[in-house]
Amino acid sequence: MFFGSTMMTLIAEYPEVRKLFPGLAQAAEDVGSPQMRNVATVGGNLAQHSRCWYYRQRDAYCAKKGGPRCLARGGENKYHALFTNSKCLSPCVSNLAVALAALDASVVVQRGAKTVTLTLAQVYEKAWGDARLHHSLAADDLILRIEIPVTAGARSTYVKLSEKSEFDWALVSCAAAGRVEGGKFRGVRVALGCVAAMPWLVKEANAFLEGKAATDETALAAAEILLREAEPREQNGYKIPMAKTLVKRALAGLVA
Ligand code: SF4
Repeated sequence: MFFGSTMMTLIAEYPEVRKLFPGLAQAAEDVGSPQMRNVATVGGNLAQHSRCWYYRQRDAYCAKKGGPRCLARGGENKYHALFTNSKCLSPCVSNLAVALAALDASVVVQRGAKTVTLTLAQVYEKAWGDARLHHSLAADDLILRIEIPVTAGARSTYVKLSEKSEFDWALVSCAAAGRVEGGKFRGVRVALGCVAAMPWLVKEANAFLEGKAATDETALAAAEILLREAEPREQNGYKIPMAKTLVKRALAGLVA
């Protein structure tokens, strides 16, 4: 368990986190620069706003700002989502979200007088249906803490590809968590990042991995399931082979 106000540097460098949740530590280490990780918090990383250039351009009035349509859908969509049934094509780019989703973590939020516990999917599900939202959190919600189940013998990994090797957001990322026993996957969860408005998990892909030989062939078959509903736009089809490669690398990292 750690707090929403925990600095990214602590997640990246604390020995116990690196030992128990190496995928999470790697995801934190890949955030921004050392200076940024010294001030950025877990809550801030999870709740960050869209990086879409239309959203950030002062004069572009897109659906996220209450405009009539998503300008990326028929425009410049190189960095946008592969899963495009959402109203806004801007993907969730939080490193921690994808690592925590693979770890089946819970986010505990103070909401008015109540404390609510959300899955990672619930943290982002409202962004799927409402283009104006970045996540499901209200303005006065406070992320109190993150709770991660510890499973004996489980490992975790996080990998990403970006345009720059340092100080850059991922084009696609992938996290996996679970065990490899006798050369077979057990209890594995795999999630893709930067391809949808939320960390992208597919139950059938995780079920497919159960008891299968821990090989690249198995990993690539799971990646096909993860990506089968992908609908690349004009400029982001490159994310499909990238995602397959990252699923293979993330799952290979679970093999001790
Ligand atoms: S992807 Fe989202 S933020 Fe970007 S133009 Fe479309 S609605 Fe706006």
